[in-house]
Amino acid sequence: MQPEQFSSAVLDWYDRHGRHNLPWQHDITPYRVWVSEIMLQQTQVSTVLGYFDKFMEALPTVQALAEAPEDEVLHLWTGLGYYTRARNLQKAAKIVVAEHGGEFPRDVDKLVELPGIGLSTAGAIASISMGLRAPILDGNVKRVLARFTAQEGYPGEPKVAKQMWATAERYTPHSRVNHYTQAMMDLGATLCTRSKPSCLLCPLERGCEAHMLGQETRYPIPKPRKVVPQKRTLMPIFANQEGAILLYRRPSTGLWGGLWSLPELDDFTDMQHLANQHALEMGEHLALPGLVHTFSHFQLTIEPWLVRVQESAHHVAEDDWLWYNLATPPRLGLAAPVKKLLKNAADVLNAGESA
Ligand code: SF4
Repeated sequence: MQPEQFSSAVLDWYDRHGRHNLPWQHDITPYRVWVSEIMLQQTQVSTVLGYFDKFMEALPTVQALAEAPEDEVLHLWTGLGYYTRARNLQKAAKIVVAEHGGEFPRDVDKLVELPGIGLSTAGAIASISMGLRAPILDGNVKRVLARFTAQEGYPGEPKVAKQMWATAERYTPHSRVNHYTQAMMDLGATLCTRSKPSCLLCPLERGCEAHMLGQETRYPIPKPRKVVPQKRTLMPIFANQEGAILLYRRPSTGLWGGLWSLPELDDFTDMQHLANQHALEMGEHLALPGLVHTFSHFQLTIEPWLVRVQESAHHVAEDDWLWYNLATPPRLGLAAPVKKLLKNAADVLNAGESA
């Protein structure tokens, strides 16, 4: 679909079906558009309706906002949340009054210099209230365009964001840009909704790539999940004649710092070394159910082995190692998965005794 066809389809739809009675669509000024745009960030239209008129009645001009006590501004904002928006609003108002003679600059690059105004908000102010040909790309418009072009890649990535801004720029018309901007926001909010787009009512249906693919909700592509590195370890649960388990205390810094844990080994050769180190004779081996433990930066797959051991009489106990009696457990700090593994081991050992 050519850009002219695209914008005229959107504008025709807006003339017939778009919303024209929202309070910020009347008496349009840069100030009113700006306040409405800031209120609409992260907030539903239905909620903003309860605030916009009251705000405008109390602070009808950018000068009034600049001069109001901060408490008054925050009071008018109470219930809308994200109060940084209100503080930035007043900061920006003060700058507009002090540096621009109370008039919003007619230039997107200057508008984005004001606190709390991003490129899309600047585009909305410039196009809706000044008639400047400036694209916007708020959440709703991003959804429409990502679907229309079947845009691959997460739009939060700079490369993808650049492509999407180029798309927004390409389709922005040279005339009626004020209505076009409102139409695109409306289309995203009412038809091209997040989970159930009403494609059959949409003026872009014929050219929409996501619709043609039958994959509307695949776009915009969500933020990619980070690939979590995987590690594996073998944990021997050495159980002596009394059914006590050999634990060691982890170094005070690092993972499970200072907690008591089962040894972490790479393989069975390491297990034999560990047994030798503690003068243990290994007997029966039994694989217990594995565990996957997720840390903030990796995932650990634990392969636990219950191993019966005989202690030789000559071994001298070392610091940071102890025999943990499952029947009368000492009060120690245990790493969470180790607690679970000890319980599993206790179940197996008890079942063995009662058999
Ligand atoms: S056709 Fe469907 S998916 Fe495409 S822009 Fe319209 S509502 Fe969105």
